[in-house]
Amino acid sequence: MNGLLDVVVIGGGIVGIAHAIEAADRGLSVALIERDDPPVGASIRNFGHACVTAQAGDGRRRALRARERWLELAARAGFWAGKTGTVVVARASDELAVLHELAAIRGPAEVELLDASEVRSRVGSAAHDIVGGARFRLDLRVNPREAAHSLLRWLAGRPGVAVRTGEHVVAVEPGVVRTNRATLRARRIVVAVNHDVDRLFPDLAAQHGVRRCWLQMLRVAAPGDRRVVPGVLSGFSLLRYAAFRECGSLGAVRARLTAESPLAIEADLNLMFTQLPDGDLLLGDTHGRGTTIDPFCSEAWFELVLAEGARLLGVEGLAVRERWQGVYASAPEEFLVAEPMEGVTVASVTSGIGMTTGFGLAAEVADGW
Ligand SMILES: Cc1cc2nc3c(=O)[nH]c(=O)nc-3n(C[C@H](O)[C@H](O)[C@H](O)COP(=O)(O)OP(=O)(O)OC[C@H]3O[C@@H](n4cnc5c(N)ncnc54)[C@H](O)[C@@H]3O)c2cc1C
Repeated sequence: MNGLLDVVVIGGGIVGIAHAIEAADRGLSVALIERDDPPVGASIRNFGHACVTAQAGDGRRRALRARERWLELAARAGFWAGKTGTVVVARASDELAVLHELAAIRGPAEVELLDASEVRSRVGSAAHDIVGGARFRLDLRVNPREAAHSLLRWLAGRPGVAVRTGEHVVAVEPGVVRTNRATLRARRIVVAVNHDVDRLFPDLAAQHGVRRCWLQMLRVAAPGDRRVVPGVLSGFSLLRYAAFRECGSLGAVRARLTAESPLAIEADLNLMFTQLPDGDLLLGDTHGRGTTIDPFCSEAWFELVLAEGARLLGVEGLAVRERWQGVYASAPEEFLVAEPMEGVTVASVTSGIGMTTGFGLAAEVADGW
């Protein structure tokens, strides 16, 4: 594919892939450039959780559109996307109050309230402190270790598409992308490099307050080989997602958890898990923020996640199979979409919701072409 391309996409994570698919589906020629082979960024390291219901505003609009795209693309590209929903486990009356408020706002088609025994059976938990919960019906799950890689392979086989892995972009100019191997020319350029937006556009990143957010994650054996279909969120998750901010009772949850669990607040814990097809659980996560990633994982934070995970599941302890760190862009706004140069769009999800919203964001960017 020599000469002038319609679109060059930089970044082979879910946001870059989504833009390349939008281009290919519009009959445009597109090259996607990814420095790693295969890509191993946030899109591979996460829970594979499309947490649609917990979003609000732009995030909700993009999540709803992304949901349709996930289901359609799973069928087209041949990977698993399950309409599994999410179960939010409430272990205190204030957490349940937040879920009741959200259920009243969203209605039963989106948020189904559950009693304690329904929650226990759906999440496979023996915990005695569960007081109830809710099922978010619209939420999806994918296998994060499969989905982006399957999409990339499928994309590479489509006419008019070139996937160039192992190639690092060193500079972007209007209509021109320079890599460590070649110079490409394109009518449109999409920069979807997650937190590394500051490497190519430092002033833009600074203007939008983009920092790196690093998360500690664990893969643990499912106790007793239990099967857990939905994604599972906890009371800590209520502090995180935009939809819950519409609920007046959230303040009580924050105040109680701050008093009860200072370490969890320091680690900015979002206690949640999803199950991989082989049965292991992806369990996390903690959050640290800064311009440069702290390379040293805190064992105290891993122990916190393990202890809280065991408590959520009502078991004595959990057997760890893997530990890792994931990184995403973080900023005061949930999305960074900007055109720093003519024909160049920077698209970055600057909060931990790119799997949920990335396809919706790309569709909106492509609508503007
Ligand atoms: C631990 C963890 C858990 C998460 N859980 C969830 C979740 O459950 N639900 C959810 O919705 N979101 C979740 N997220 C957030 C979500 O994973 C991200 O928002 C999303 O994956 C971002 O996609 P991306 O394509 O922008 O980034 P990435 O997947 O990081 O892709 C960016 C790519 O750009 C490439 N790149 C960078 N610079 C260059 C360059 N100069 N040249 C060439 N290539 C370059 C990188 O190699 C990388 O592959 C989680 C994130 C983490 C880290």
